[in-house]
Amino acid sequence: MLQGKTALITGSTSGIGQAIAEALAAQGANIVFNGFGEADHIDALLNTARSHGGRALHHPADMRRPDEIAAMMDLAQAEFGGVDILVNNAGIQHVAPVDEFPLDKWNDIIAINLSSAFHTTRLAVPGMRQRGWGRIINIASAHALVASPFKSAYVAAKHGIAGFTKSCALELAQSGVTVNAICPGYVRTPLVERQIPDTMKARNLTREQVERDVLLAAQPTKRFVTVEEIAAMVGYLASDAARSVTGALMSVDGGWTAQ
Ligand code: NAD
Repeated sequence: MLQGKTALITGSTSGIGQAIAEALAAQGANIVFNGFGEADHIDALLNTARSHGGRALHHPADMRRPDEIAAMMDLAQAEFGGVDILVNNAGIQHVAPVDEFPLDKWNDIIAINLSSAFHTTRLAVPGMRQRGWGRIINIASAHALVASPFKSAYVAAKHGIAGFTKSCALELAQSGVTVNAICPGYVRTPLVERQIPDTMKARNLTREQVERDVLLAAQPTKRFVTVEEIAAMVGYLASDAARSVTGALMSVDGGWTAQ
């Protein structure tokens, strides 16, 4: 269904981004992978993506570096003639009180979770506009809509990406390019797994207690969102059926932000 289209997904060597890349590859799109990881893992991702008939490559651009982002976008242009579906997904987390928040962590989170989306978008838009078709999908978070303590950088970046999404959607409204954000609740990925041991130690809880009483405390369904559920929403937003959906913040959060 996406044969002949090219999708670039930042942070697609793990978790949500990887599932999105796999789902778009399964629809026949060419895929530009990005993100860190072992060479063997990345080779396996490329082989799986190619098995659906599209082409695939990986660019290791560090989303903190505008020059490396530009090099990645140049490669997509040279190899595939541009990016039709841009998924800004790369993201990191750090949890600390605001008055103790490490400066480098603040800068990294703002750079990766917010500014990188500006750098990819500004370089993808001219080609999308010219072709009269494009999909920009920003992976935000429930934290784009509501806050939690000790996540000041993450919440600031995710609220920022919500505003960026809406502004770009208005600019591009008559161009055939839609710009939307997906706001997941808790998804079981390495990003979330990494928070569990520290929380167990800090609060003297079992893994099960952390999952149910801390992580899923705000998620009424009491189950993690799956990466496939996020990828399915991307598939919808990338489809022609979603051409009137733009500037939207699509919650996939088990009811979290309904409260
Ligand atoms: P993850 O840790 O599994 O994957 C993150 C990806 O980003 C990896 O591919 C990693 O290599 C890449 N990455 C990290 N730093 C990078 C950098 N400097 N340059 C390039 N790539 C970099 O995380 P995930 O849970 O899959 O998160 C993906 C997105 O979804 C993030 O934006 C995150 O904020 C968002 N999100 C996650 C959850 C959740 O519960 N997991 C909930 C809401 C939103």
